[in-house]
Amino acid sequence: MMGLDLRSIILLSGIMGLLLAVVFLFLRLSYPRSIQGLGWWAVAPVASFVSTLLFAARGQIPDLVSVVAANGLLLTGIAMFYFGARHFFGLAPAYLSRIGLILAALPLLTWYTLVEPSFTARILIVSLLWAYIQMTLAVLIWRHGPEVFSTRFTAVVLLIHTCTLVLRFLSAWLPLPNEHLLDPTRVQTLYVVMNALLTVALGVGLILMASDRLRVLLEHSASHDSLTNALVRRTLIGACEQELERCRRHGRSMALLMLDIDHFKAINDMHGHQMGDRVLVDFVNRLTPLLRRPDQLGRFGGEEFVVLLPETTQEQALLVAERIRAAVAQPTTGLPPITASIGVTTNRPDDAQIDVLLARADTALYKAKAEGRNRIAVV
Ligand code: GH3
Ligand code: MG
Ligand code: MG
Repeated sequence: MMGLDLRSIILLSGIMGLLLAVVFLFLRLSYPRSIQGLGWWAVAPVASFVSTLLFAARGQIPDLVSVVAANGLLLTGIAMFYFGARHFFGLAPAYLSRIGLILAALPLLTWYTLVEPSFTARILIVSLLWAYIQMTLAVLIWRHGPEVFSTRFTAVVLLIHTCTLVLRFLSAWLPLPNEHLLDPTRVQTLYVVMNALLTVALGVGLILMASDRLRVLLEHSASHDSLTNALVRRTLIGACEQELERCRRHGRSMALLMLDIDHFKAINDMHGHQMGDRVLVDFVNRLTPLLRRPDQLGRFGGEEFVVLLPETTQEQALLVAERIRAAVAQPTTGLPPITASIGVTTNRPDDAQIDVLLARADTALYKAKAEGRNRIAVV
């Protein structure tokens, strides 16, 4: 440890930070805009790198720049990771609190650099602020992130970093001779190496978080209809197949509702296609709250939807269908009134394939249409 050249380690960690910045910039450009915060995460390591250059130029440029501005920039870089995380989780930015803290620290740092030079005092100020920002970032990620490896890993990295900074804060009281950032003492070396490793680990954690978010988005868009957010046909059929298999194994019952908006073509013809789209979105929004958690709603085609009702008897399915029919027939302000016809069916012991149930629900729907629409039929 003692033999490590601190200047090289600091420079190397700065370069690794720049590589992270390039990765974040690439993610910012290639990932969907709905994944926010990546821009902040791209700039943060750059701020840290520039601060490293300023620290390294100590003696060649004024101390006000190489010490005070460099520390301010270092802390700003740390705060940028925090800002990015707030954007990432869709929270209000809260720039003022962090920037205010950093600005408040600058006069103190100036005092302990120019008026009463004290490396110890500066260490106390910077490590305390740094630890505070890292800890609040850890809490933010733990609280708002999903319970997956990437968020847990990142939060733990940040907590370890916080502990390192607190130890650094406490070590400032150790009776060490006039230390300088580049003095290769045991404490100093440990601190610099830990900072380098943990900053890279933080970057890796944030990249994993962003790619997890991308995976969730892609999975969602592959399984949900982009207009109405109902499940797409393939996903709903998959869910129905699984449910039918469960029913066969455990002797349970399930129901399928096939819904079709009545005379929908006339709505498009009279009010335009865009209004038709709004009617479809409103139809799904009105239907969703009427369903239980295990129920699934899928869009089968234009204005045709299927509802899967697990563990539901024919009697119960008819009640749900009637609730839906009545709710759809209630007018929504600003939209043309609509009605829907609903075909209902439940599983039978000899149903081997989901297609058999779907065909029956379709026959029932056809029956409801033939009987005059805005009604329910069972087959
Ligand atoms: P019925 O009562 O027999 O169901 O009559 P209908 O007019 O509802 O049925 P039809 O199948 O003749 O017409 C369905 C219409 O739905 C035709 C098509 O243009 C429209 N449609 C399909 N998908 C969309 C969509 O995504 N948006 C809009 N606005 N219209 C759509
Ligand atoms: Mg229709
Ligand atoms: Mg139709």
